[in-house]
Amino acid sequence: MGRFSLALVHHPVLHKDGSTIASAVTNTDLHDIARSCATFGVDAFYVVTPVAAQRALCDRLVHHWTVGDGARKNADRARAFAAMRVVDSITAALEMETRAAGRAVPAWATSARPLPGAVPLETARRQLEQGADALLLLGTAHGLAQPALDLCALTLAPIPGRAAPDGTRYNHLSVRAAAAILLHQLRRDS
Ligand code: SAM
Repeated sequence: MGRFSLALVHHPVLHKDGSTIASAVTNTDLHDIARSCATFGVDAFYVVTPVAAQRALCDRLVHHWTVGDGARKNADRARAFAAMRVVDSITAALEMETRAAGRAVPAWATSARPLPGAVPLETARRQLEQGADALLLLGTAHGLAQPALDLCALTLAPIPGRAAPDGTRYNHLSVRAAAAILLHQLRRDS
């Protein structure tokens, strides 16, 4: 089995006006996605932000839930937070993954929008089942900006949802919900 990790990316991500921004870390994202990662055997959960004050906040959360009062009160949450790594860039996460795997680990992009060359989720699942390594990137704000996509070796097709009777599709999953669905699609036991 290859190495499989997930990165919650706060920069570079898109603002609704199309500009590239650094979004703020959301505590609920960390708890929910850490629990999803633990559920599906994700090797590491990276929180990516270039903002030092935001990293310090995340480090305090990790300390609280892994060795502090939170860990004493909730061992299950301690286990989920133990896989969390706080880094300043996607590149830093890729470097840590490459060191941990002992080989280059590719980044895979996710998006609510169908991007050129996107690969069906089932195809990506088969690659993982055959031993592929991957660092799955999830965006915040309005999604991964182009510099993040440019770092990716592969782009996954969107979670399809279901068309309304009039044929339209509501496609505004929270990143928390998207993470859980993607991990189930990619990592559930056969
Ligand atoms: N503040 C927003 C929230 O949590 O509601 C953040 C949404 S964020 C842009 C959505 C991210 O979740 C995308 O960058 C992507 O990683 C993932 N995502 C959302 N919808 C998706 C879909 N249909 N298929 C795949 N990934 C999706």
